[in-house]
Amino acid sequence: MSETGTLVRGGHVLTSAQPDAIENGAVRIVGELIDAIGPWADLRCRFPDDEVHGDRHSIITPGFINTHGHFSEGLFTGIAEDFTLVEWIEAVINPTAPHHDQEKAYVGTLLAGIQMLRSGITLASDMFVCDPADQPVTPGVVRALDQLALRGVVTFGAADRRGAAVSAILEEHAALREACESSRLSRFRVGIALLGAQSEELFQESVMLAADHGSHIHLHEVREEVTAIRAATGRSPIEQCARLGLFDGPTIAAHCVWVDENDRDILADYQVGVAHNPVSNMILASGVCPVPALRKLGVNVGIGVDGPASNDSQNMIEAIKMAVLLQRVDRMQATALSARDALAMATIEGARSLHVDSELGSLEVGKQADLVVFDGRSPTLANIHDPYQAVVYCAGPREVAEVWVAGSKSVAGGEVVHVDPAEVAERSRPLARELARRAHLGQHSLLAPS
Ligand SMILES: [Zn+2]
Repeated sequence: MSETGTLVRGGHVLTSAQPDAIENGAVRIVGELIDAIGPWADLRCRFPDDEVHGDRHSIITPGFINTHGHFSEGLFTGIAEDFTLVEWIEAVINPTAPHHDQEKAYVGTLLAGIQMLRSGITLASDMFVCDPADQPVTPGVVRALDQLALRGVVTFGAADRRGAAVSAILEEHAALREACESSRLSRFRVGIALLGAQSEELFQESVMLAADHGSHIHLHEVREEVTAIRAATGRSPIEQCARLGLFDGPTIAAHCVWVDENDRDILADYQVGVAHNPVSNMILASGVCPVPALRKLGVNVGIGVDGPASNDSQNMIEAIKMAVLLQRVDRMQATALSARDALAMATIEGARSLHVDSELGSLEVGKQADLVVFDGRSPTLANIHDPYQAVVYCAGPREVAEVWVAGSKSVAGGEVVHVDPAEVAERSRPLARELARRAHLGQHSLLAPS
C-alpha cells in the first residue's frame, strides 16, 4: 500500500524544470513534498484513492518567489508617487523608520502577505527597514508569515547613519534570527539597507554575519548611489562589496540598474543573485535593469514586487508581466524577454538567486510542494493557446484558485485560508493612522503642495 497522497490536476503543468508544459498532467503531493509528477491518466491509475484538486482546465505553476520586498511598508501605500528614490527615502522611509514596533510589523506583514499569497507568491524575500526600538520589531514579521503559511527569507535592513547604535542593530538581527530558528517556514539573512547607510564598523559586522547566514542588500538602484560611493572610495558599490568580502557568503542584491560591464562581471563571478523590481523601478523612475545582459552572463535574476510604498501593490503576476514589457519598450525589441523567460525568473531563477533551488522553485520529485493552481474555469483563461502567455499576460490574482505551501493550502477558493482579510484590514487602520501621524507623513516639505 502506498502512502496517502493528493493529486493536483491541470490541463497544463508548467514545471520550470522541463522546457515544455506537461499537457493533461498532475502533481502528487505526499506530506510536504512532491512525490510524483506526470500525465494525469498515469498518476490516477497508480493512485486511484488520492484526493483530487484542480481539474482538466487548470494551469499549475511552481509557487512564485518574490525576491525583494519590504514588509516595513505594509501600512503606508499609495503615497509619495512623484519622487525619485532619494527624495522618497527622505520623505517617507526616514520619517517612518523610528516608529515601527512588533505589532505594526505583524499587522503590516499580514496585510502585504495576504496580497502576495493571492498573487501566487509562496516565498517572500524581505528586508524590514526600521530603526531598533526598545523591544525587537522584526519578530512580528516571522509571526505573521507563520500564521499565513507563507515562506520567508527575512532580514532586518540595518542602517546606522540615522543614529542607531551598532549594538542595538546587532540585537535586532539576533532577535530576528532567534524568531526564525523556531519558525517552520522562515529563514534568517542579514539585511543591509544600503552600503552608504552603514558605518564601516557596522558593515564589518554585517560581512561577518553574512558569511554564516547570507545577505540581502540594495545595490546600484540609482545613479546617485553609485556616484556617492565612487566619490568616497574610488570604487562602485558592487566593487566595494566584493572587496570587503560581502559576496563571499550568498547575497541577493536588489535592483542592479546602474551596472557597468565590470559590475556585471563581478555579479557573475561571485554568483550574486539579482532581484529585479520592474514596477518600483518605473514608479521611482530609477531606470532599467539590464536583465537580458545579466542572464547572458549566467547571473540568476529573480523578480520582486518591492515594498508596498514604492510599487504600490503586492501583485507578483503584475510584476512578472511588467518585467517583460519593460525590457521590450526599453530595447524597442519584441523578443527582448519572453513569457517563458519571465516565468523562469519568477520561479527557478528566483530560487537560484536565493540559493534555495535544491528545495524550491520548480515542480520536481523530492522538492517542497509549493505550487499555484490557476482557475481554468475563469473566462480569462477559457481558451489557452499557450499556457506561459496565459499566465504572464492574461491572468491576475482573480485567476489564482489555490496556493500550496509545503504541501498544504494557504489559498483555497481564491482566498487566504489562515487569516480573515477583512479583520486584518480593520486591525491595520488605527496602526496606519498612528504611524502616519507620528511620522508626519504627508506633511514633509517635499510632499507639501507648492
Ligand atoms: Zn527595496
